[in-house]
Amino acid sequence: MTFTHRHLLGIEHLRPEEIVTLLDLADDYVTLNRAAEKHGAALAGLTQINMFFENSTRTQASFELAGKRLGADVMNMAMQASSITKGETLIDTAMTLNAMHPDLLVVRHPHSGAVDLLAQKVNCAVLNAGDGRHEHPTQALLDALTIRRAKGRLHRLNIAICGDIAHSRVARSNIILLGKMENRIRLIGPPTLMPAGINEFGVEVYDNMQKGLDDVDVVMMLRLQRERMDGGFIPSEREYYHRFGLDADKLAHAKPDAIVMHPGPMNRGVEIDGTLADDINRSVIQDQVEMGVAVRMAAMDLLARNLRTVRGAA
Ligand code: ASP
Repeated sequence: MTFTHRHLLGIEHLRPEEIVTLLDLADDYVTLNRAAEKHGAALAGLTQINMFFENSTRTQASFELAGKRLGADVMNMAMQASSITKGETLIDTAMTLNAMHPDLLVVRHPHSGAVDLLAQKVNCAVLNAGDGRHEHPTQALLDALTIRRAKGRLHRLNIAICGDIAHSRVARSNIILLGKMENRIRLIGPPTLMPAGINEFGVEVYDNMQKGLDDVDVVMMLRLQRERMDGGFIPSEREYYHRFGLDADKLAHAKPDAIVMHPGPMNRGVEIDGTLADDINRSVIQDQVEMGVAVRMAAMDLLARNLRTVRGAA
């Protein structure tokens, strides 16, 4: 098997053929999820704990459903409300949970690198559900599956990632994944929302939507991440929408069959026009949500296989 990792911490650790293995398995899970009987047994007998130190609706629900569909015992820990407010450290919390013998730990944390640190301390497989501005690997994988199914391939596409790149772990994971699969990536946004050292990523940078969208196959919009800004990044939301919000006029510069993506949650009228977001002829935003469950099933299935192999050998 071409996927031998103990954890899924970031796209940067994956080889292109591992990405393909995971997406192929996820395709099978899309079929299962569309069937009347949706249960698989890949995680039967295993315990999955979801630890979200940051608010999340769709990612947590998606991981929970993915685990349940594959037969795991799934527990959600509301970390905001629990021990951290009492001053327990991340590692203390992890060690406590580790003593309960989970097999899969799904972690979201506001600090970049926190999930990697935690993975070094526990005995189970750890999946990064988003750490600060660092990585959000399952988001990039579900985006890749959505693109591959819509476009019939995942290479040699022109892909624009637009908006608040600087604060976005979604952008970072996507840039790494789509780069590994040999696509041409353009980043579009105001210079204040471009991360430092962006030129090292092998991407083209634009501060004009009309120019940047010219001839692209995929338009990926990002949320303005206000919670990671400390003021002064954009003049006003109105001005931002005028220059960088995606509407039908700006989309007309892309290829006629270009697809529109957004990881959610969306700010309608700020980064994207609401009608366009709902247009099923252009927008694949709902497909992204569907692919999310399948990709998380595939990721946990592959990690569980490796876990069983390691334990069997011990
Ligand atoms: N849901 C994505 C994330 O957790 C994108 C966003 O929040 O804007 O990074």
